[in-house]
Amino acid sequence: MRVDSDFGTRDEKGHWKPPYPAGFSPLFSSPVRIGRTLKWLLGWGGYILPMYLFYAALAWLTYTYFQPPIESFAPLEPSSVGYMLVRNLILALVIYGFYHLVLYTWKLHGRDRKFHPAWQQKGKKFLFNNQVADNMFYTLVSGVPMWTAYEVLYFWLVARGVVPGLSFQERPVLFAVILLVIPMWRETHFYFAHRLLHWKPLLRLVHSVHHRNPNPGPWSGMSMHPIEHVLYFSQLLIHLVVPAHPIHLLYNSQITALSPARGHIGFEGPLFDGFWPTGDYYHYLHHKHVSCNYGTGLIPWDRWLGTFFDGEGTHRTK
Ligand SMILES: [Zn+2]
Ligand SMILES: [Zn+2]
Repeated sequence: MRVDSDFGTRDEKGHWKPPYPAGFSPLFSSPVRIGRTLKWLLGWGGYILPMYLFYAALAWLTYTYFQPPIESFAPLEPSSVGYMLVRNLILALVIYGFYHLVLYTWKLHGRDRKFHPAWQQKGKKFLFNNQVADNMFYTLVSGVPMWTAYEVLYFWLVARGVVPGLSFQERPVLFAVILLVIPMWRETHFYFAHRLLHWKPLLRLVHSVHHRNPNPGPWSGMSMHPIEHVLYFSQLLIHLVVPAHPIHLLYNSQITALSPARGHIGFEGPLFDGFWPTGDYYHYLHHKHVSCNYGTGLIPWDRWLGTFFDGEGTHRTK
């Protein structure tokens, strides 16, 4: 089993931190850094490769081979809904399960670069007294059906002809630009929805389910109260008003549903000697300190709105 490399430091309680502060993509850096931005955009572990290319391919595959025909949504056939639900359950089990098996069951990366000293935990605050079972329950019983419901709503409205469409053959450049912009929209919505969830009554009643996990693991990613799932996926409604192709909807919904596995692995990436760009120090700091870093490292909403903590020094809880 691997042990800690000499990269980063562990404090006396065993919490690990990387030797650099959390930060943002160069997209909005000032002054503009063209070389760095291009490397971030096109390089391995940057914006497109491998993650968003993977999700674009997955959306295309899903739409081409695993999406019920549009005629089966008006009138709505229960078998189409059931098919999509099972499809999404399988996707969630494969993606979340893969991360969990590699890092927490087989422990193939050992403890190297793991932020929190403990593995996944047990305790009364969790359903079934078990963090992994708790997190899997909220993900599979609430998260996946809510994700599917938004997708079904979209295809039901497409079948009724009330959603503006976009053809790849007619507008290929716009098609690609929308793929690039969707994560920016998604993460902007995430910042503001997340700040709303930190309003004390909502934090106590709803968002506390997600914050049971100061030591997150992959399954913590979509472990949320059902009300939070409604809010979290609501950014998909943009596709009902802004022209898009069903592939855009699937790309966005699959990123929203599946990428939190990567964002909550509890390790700082890249892992396996740089081969696997994954992990999210920025969001780990949110789980650790709670009142900072409501957004992501893509667009610096936290910096612009004064809620950013880079992990250096001491965080003052507000
Ligand atoms: Zn989280
Ligand atoms: Zn939060």
